[in-house]
Amino acid sequence: MEYEAVIGLETHVQLKTRSKMWCGCPNEFGSPPNTNVCPVCLGMPGVLPVANEEALRLTVLTGYLLNCEIPRFAKFDRKNYFYPDSAKNYQLTQYDRPSTANGWVEFEFDGSPTGVERVRITRAHLEEDVGKNNHFDRHSGVDFNRAGVPLLEIVSEPDLKGPDMAYAYLKALTDILARANVSDCDLEKGMVRCDVNVSVRPRGSEKLGAKIEIKNMNSFSGVRRALEYEIPRQIEAVMRGEALRQETRRWDDVAGITEPMRSKEDAHDYRYFPEPDLMPFAPTDEWLAEVRTRVPELPRARKLRLMRDFGLPDGDAQVLTDNLPLGQFFEAAATGYRHPKSVANWVINNLPAKLAETSTSLGDLKFPATALRDLVDLVESGKISSKIAQDVFAEMFATGMAPAAIVDQKGLAQVSDSGAIEALAAQVIAANPGPAADFKAGKAAALNFLKGQLMKLSKGKANPAMAGEVLERLLKA
Ligand code: ADP
Ligand code: MG
Ligand code: ZN
Repeated sequence: MEYEAVIGLETHVQLKTRSKMWCGCPNEFGSPPNTNVCPVCLGMPGVLPVANEEALRLTVLTGYLLNCEIPRFAKFDRKNYFYPDSAKNYQLTQYDRPSTANGWVEFEFDGSPTGVERVRITRAHLEEDVGKNNHFDRHSGVDFNRAGVPLLEIVSEPDLKGPDMAYAYLKALTDILARANVSDCDLEKGMVRCDVNVSVRPRGSEKLGAKIEIKNMNSFSGVRRALEYEIPRQIEAVMRGEALRQETRRWDDVAGITEPMRSKEDAHDYRYFPEPDLMPFAPTDEWLAEVRTRVPELPRARKLRLMRDFGLPDGDAQVLTDNLPLGQFFEAAATGYRHPKSVANWVINNLPAKLAETSTSLGDLKFPATALRDLVDLVESGKISSKIAQDVFAEMFATGMAPAAIVDQKGLAQVSDSGAIEALAAQVIAANPGPAADFKAGKAAALNFLKGQLMKLSKGKANPAMAGEVLERLLKA
């Protein structure tokens, strides 16, 4: 019997707000321990939380980005548990009435027959992060700087089918959130953490197998590796006739294995109840409409548009999507121009190379995007060769002068005058009797050498196609 994996992810993402969720402490990474704290986020008795409105906006914005419904009534609940990193002994979260529900995310995935997958989103709800335990040689410390940082939990339906698909989903999800400025999604700073739920079942069966949850993964490649280990482990166990039990496991990144943490029997009872110190959240039409204006063009939509509107190949469109400033530069240069692919070649290859070489950034360029299009057009219309175009480009970088002006000033225009080229060709043949004789004797490659000599003689200005034709004509005459 063949088995298949079923995977659902719970992804935690720190929201990009200036202050924490319920107090005015900065939402800041890397400060000395316990410096971004106050009585509210330290859970002192008698304090009252005040909801951070920007965090509420970013939550609803995420709902729009992930095609969710936005209920007109949401609330916060206390999830009670005792743990050193949670000073309040409860976490504020949204339990049965989350701010968003029933969405989906679509992303490109090579392993799919259609190249595109859709994963349903159960909900994205708002909660607060907890502090961080640090363990030293002889003691442990708790840093509460992270306590109360707004955290979004994005729960997927069990629609993921394998390690690579889970990886692609996480990448697409965080690309979307980063593009909309919901979160910087910086994994190095722990801004994205993920619980991985995975089970196996006979292929084609509808019934879900026992769910194993791998807690607190902090890298996408870790998620992929954990699944690459865990799925065969489960399949082998089932094939041996073992009944898998629901349990929580931990990923050991060094050993490359998962190991049991706790089984269902010791599952927590969180005694959820509505937070009495916060009003339910009932957004108005105006408020929602304002949040909606913050939905940007998302990566995949952008890529498809670049392919459609400019006739770009997938690879080019991908580069111009992943690097948004470069893509915007391209659009400014190529919009309304009949050779967008040539512009893309320059924007993707020559421009970044020159930026790196001269340690400039796109914002410091001395010429506008339209000047690059003008340069491309000088090549496309045969006024200059692509080799000369490189020199003109360097000059544009240095001085910001318009390409046509540079060509005029330096006399770089391509020579397409047949008389002038014939004169050059005659000179080259006279100076290279050996290769000329070779060509006449049937050695076709000799023509390339002669052509190279002609281009050199013209300082790169001769029209290369004409140079070849004229040489051939003279040699055959
Ligand atoms: P819990 O209440 O334990 O967090 P949920 O039913 O809310 O469990 O599911 C949490 C996550 O686990 C979701 O992402 C869901 O898609 C996924 N999930 C649920 N059941 C299974 C299963 N049998 N196999 C794989 N993933 C599952
Ligand atoms: Mg869970
Ligand atoms: Zn605080």
